[in-house]
Amino acid sequence: MSREINREVADILDKAADMVYLSREDALTLMGIPLHTAECYALMETANRMSRERFGGKGENHYHIGLNVEPCPLDCQFCSLTYKAGIFTAENKIEFPLDQVIAWAKEAEQYGADGLNLMTTGNYSFQKLLDVGRILSEEVAVPLVANTRDINHREGEALLEAGFVAAYHAVRLGEGVVTPLNREKRIQTIKVLRDVGLSWANCVEPVGPEHTAEELVDLMFLARDHGAAYSGVMRRINFPGSPMEPYGMISELEMARLVAISRLIMADVPDAHCTHEPHAASLLAGANLFFPEVGSSPRDGQADTGKGRGTGIEICQQIQREMELDPDLPSNCYRVKINLSVNS
Ligand code: SF4
Repeated sequence: MSREINREVADILDKAADMVYLSREDALTLMGIPLHTAECYALMETANRMSRERFGGKGENHYHIGLNVEPCPLDCQFCSLTYKAGIFTAENKIEFPLDQVIAWAKEAEQYGADGLNLMTTGNYSFQKLLDVGRILSEEVAVPLVANTRDINHREGEALLEAGFVAAYHAVRLGEGVVTPLNREKRIQTIKVLRDVGLSWANCVEPVGPEHTAEELVDLMFLARDHGAAYSGVMRRINFPGSPMEPYGMISELEMARLVAISRLIMADVPDAHCTHEPHAASLLAGANLFFPEVGSSPRDGQADTGKGRGTGIEICQQIQREMELDPDLPSNCYRVKINLSVNS
């Protein structure tokens, strides 16, 4: 016997499916839905439907290349690349050779990746990132996305000139508390991206069990209100010895529930909806974008995460095909946007 779902929840889901922007109160009602309930599956079904209709069944793969491994003095507590973590030392620091980076980029292109996200630690030279961007934009046709420190307008224009079309830039959960960075400066960089014409890529991250509904919803609204090209949910991975270990980690199913809520909040703003690390559950809850990974990763104790936690592009595509998303369709991301929804 099927059972009716809560009327208030049903009304919010109907509103979201019509691409009406939800209020914070609506979002907090959704955050109160427990796993394994009819309301939770209805929430995921709504998110799934919204994404499959809007993204046309496309499975996106944005290939992450971490360019360097060295102890980062910024010491964000969830990151394995910090001085404090002590996993990587100044003596064993690595800048992956250009030949290796080009080979990874060509692999990404060969497998039909839809974006190439170049990540650096907080102390990596910005000039070198521009150089790598210039070289890769000659070597491959995959859209380049920078993942680097806060930047000003001049640096944003330099990224564009070097061939980048977008930048990944998250205001992280606990920014300013578990990181030394300033939330307002992070938001200022997001405005810089918009001003200079770079797409803004985002994720609500790194989510742990200790984060409150209000904190999570706050970042989901930030993404919608500043017109993110995509903004799903990534859970925190506690590397061995992480100072965040006492808090534990959320499950993939809980991540899927949050992916669904963020999908409803994003409405008609995004071109894709991400989750990380790659898994099937969120592909039934509105996610359609994975990040295959090589090179450095803030979640790994291995210098090259392609030999560690990182999931390769073939496996990412296989998971998507099993969930009836098609990675071979053209990407919906990084096209010129008209009428971008920006409310603030
Ligand atoms: S998350 Fe980035 S800025 Fe923070 S410690 Fe790690 S590499 Fe440095």
